[in-house]
Amino acid sequence: MDTTSLRGRIGQLIHMHSRDMTRDILGSGFSCARCGWCCRENFKIRITPNILRPSNAISIFPDDIRCIIRGTGMQWEEVAQPDIYSCLSDGERMLAIGWILRRNEAGDCSFYREGECSIYEFRPMICRCYPFFMDERGVDVMHCNGLGNEMTRERAEEMARMVKRYEMKKLRSYVSILEQIGDKLNLANLRELPYDYCGEIFVCDGEGITVDCINKLP
Ligand code: SF4
Ligand code: SF4
Repeated sequence: MDTTSLRGRIGQLIHMHSRDMTRDILGSGFSCARCGWCCRENFKIRITPNILRPSNAISIFPDDIRCIIRGTGMQWEEVAQPDIYSCLSDGERMLAIGWILRRNEAGDCSFYREGECSIYEFRPMICRCYPFFMDERGVDVMHCNGLGNEMTRERAEEMARMVKRYEMKKLRSYVSILEQIGDKLNLANLRELPYDYCGEIFVCDGEGITVDCINKLP
């Protein structure tokens, strides 16, 4: 991953119309069943030998966190935690790449309560896109219990626009992170935060570097 290729991909996306994805989304027949499957930890994904990431370690942008704070009155640290599955040490500091939604002791998203999302109106962009993401070929559809239903074209178009916006924002965030921490950011350097880590952690999130403090891992 380098800034040149990321900028190239952003350039391609700018010229791609979101309606190119509408047909695939419409064909999936998505209608959220509010089952909460994607909000709970269902499995772990082996990203590298050093990273075993829960399926619901949900990466969020600072804008998502501010939106939830505005909607709920909660504090930043109640909403989000440093992405402990995407860390690296630069010899002096422990860096986390971005934020994830805070999870509870059972491993569920902490906003999943009584069988539903308790912040549905303010949920992060990634939750609004699920189960659709972009890959090199177009739309990638994740596991979801709400597929195969009736879906209007209008809704499919709205989701296609959201998925494209999310992808552009994610890539721009990667560019900004790379500009801040340079070539230290490669997959081989990334690892989970050591379980017994206690102390300062610097979160690089595309807007800047924020200091957080980990006293006790969830
Ligand atoms: S997006 Fe899919 S998996 Fe997630 S709550 Fe809705 S129906 Fe369930
Ligand atoms: S914010 Fe809501 S939709 Fe997103 S993972 Fe948490 S409970 Fe699920």
